Amino acid sequence: MTIIKSIFEYFRLYVYKLVGRVPRYEEIAPDKRRKDSPDQRVRSTEDDPIYIYKDFLTINPYSRPGITRKQPPTGIEFHWVEGPGATAMQTRNWFESRKGGKYSYGSSHFNVGLKASGGRKYAEIVQNIPEKEIAYSSGAKNYTEAARKLGRRAPYFYTISIEICHKDWSGKFTELTLAGLEELTIMLCKRYNLSAKDFFRHYDLTGKPCPKYWVDFPKEWSKFRDRIDKKLGVLL
Ligand SMILES: [Zn+2]
Repeated sequence: MTIIKSIFEYFRLYVYKLVGRVPRYEEIAPDKRRKDSPDQRVRSTEDDPIYIYKDFLTINPYSRPGITRKQPPTGIEFHWVEGPGATAMQTRNWFESRKGGKYSYGSSHFNVGLKASGGRKYAEIVQNIPEKEIAYSSGAKNYTEAARKLGRRAPYFYTISIEICHKDWSGKFTELTLAGLEELTIMLCKRYNLSAKDFFRHYDLTGKPCPKYWVDFPKEWSKFRDRIDKKLGVLL
């Protein structure tokens, strides 16, 4: 039976070659594979209205524990990468390098970068962890009142976390980076029915001075939150 199938396949390919047509299964193979293994690098999906480069970390105890959340996220965390000039992809690779346990725990769902890619007007966005899983973004011994309000467990069980790249130690974000952050934040707000009242600086959850620029200049943090709420049509 197999031999007959092989012979048939041989002739099918031969005929296709003659008429100059690529066999159909070769055309659909990449898409099929993408659906079968969601952990593969995916440039964009039909679900995302913006361009996100999904390059998920290897599941490991230190940066991607593979824990699926029980309910949709109820907050969004914001962090600075704390490494001047580091790109979104380098940040992703830094989290990946933690899988051996040498550099302790830590990760985020998304990183917003310093440069635009593909002619877009906002900075590149890399996704490290699927939204349905938790990230180790705000682990601490003690949490603030705001963090405890999220739930009984550590805040990262309830949030989606975003790392923001910056050029220098002032931690100031460029307009291009902020534009990328805005696109991503609005997408997440719409998806999970959130608004600026659900936003947290790492500082608000644990007291850690992160993101530094928004802790040093709380007015800039308010400005960002107002900008998002205005775009979402939330009454201020
Ligand atoms: Zn942080």
